[in-house]
Amino acid sequence: MSVIKTEYIRVNPYSRPGIRLTNTNKIIMHYTANPGATAENHHNYFNNLRDRYASAHIFVDDKEAICIVPTNEVAYQANDVQKRVGGKPYRGVPALLNNANFKAIGVEMCIDKKGNITMATFNRAVDVVAELCKAHHLKATDIVRHYDVTSKNCPAPWVKSPSEFTRFKNAVAAKLSVKTKKGKQWLYAKQNLGIRKEAGKWDSGVAFVLPQHAAIQVDYDNLKNDWFEINYQGKKGYFSASVATYFDEKNPNVPYVCQSDLLFRADPKWGGAPSFRRKKGETINAVEKLSNGWLKCTLGMQYGYLPDSATYLKKK
Ligand SMILES: [Zn+2]
Repeated sequence: MSVIKTEYIRVNPYSRPGIRLTNTNKIIMHYTANPGATAENHHNYFNNLRDRYASAHIFVDDKEAICIVPTNEVAYQANDVQKRVGGKPYRGVPALLNNANFKAIGVEMCIDKKGNITMATFNRAVDVVAELCKAHHLKATDIVRHYDVTSKNCPAPWVKSPSEFTRFKNAVAAKLSVKTKKGKQWLYAKQNLGIRKEAGKWDSGVAFVLPQHAAIQVDYDNLKNDWFEINYQGKKGYFSASVATYFDEKNPNVPYVCQSDLLFRADPKWGGAPSFRRKKGETINAVEKLSNGWLKCTLGMQYGYLPDSATYLKKK
């Protein structure tokens, strides 16, 4: 099932010229630069555009993705002139010469009122672009920013933080590679994850929160809409199988045995607030050794700290 809804705008000279693409070599990522405006808002805007030439194929917000120009037609998205090199307009992606509008599909991410690409929009854009890659036999390395093509500050959040763009490409790559894995595997949450009630639906509500570093066993043979079924402490839900984005495949937990009754601190120093207690002989997982020699330990959703000293803790 497609994650992209179709709602084409009218053929018109300003935003949908009705010309066929000559190739589909890349997917160009944009942001709308309109705080708070939705995908539907942009559909309406481009359907009535009369005073300039602009458009893109697909608009993504935190509720939906709408295709407003068919993906085999030209959209006026990335042939702008931002600077010149040797008298000619800067063009940073050779595969899109001479006019990127004839050789690429454009995906616009909407932003919230504060100008941010929300997690829901980011995740939906991953699903959209993975679907486009599959349909057009493209790889995650074929995803480029508008900035890469013409040097326009777009998507501005990814020009400012290129690591977010890398995270995006990795998430798409992970989604494209899901099908090649088989059977059961242990995974470890990279962060606290809001496990959803329904497979493939970010907006289906949070069934429960899987704590960072928690271990779960997933089954690649039992994917639903490219999502894992997650079972944890008697609770059940679903989460995206974009493993590189959300999970560690290597166990970050190192088990230690408490050498006496211990009070773990909320901060890695003496004299601070308490976090939790463990009794002599009980096991606790450490997930990190800090530069001051203290261990960061986990218990459910809580963190607690003690020095890495055999007086307190010994490796199991
Ligand atoms: Zn752009």
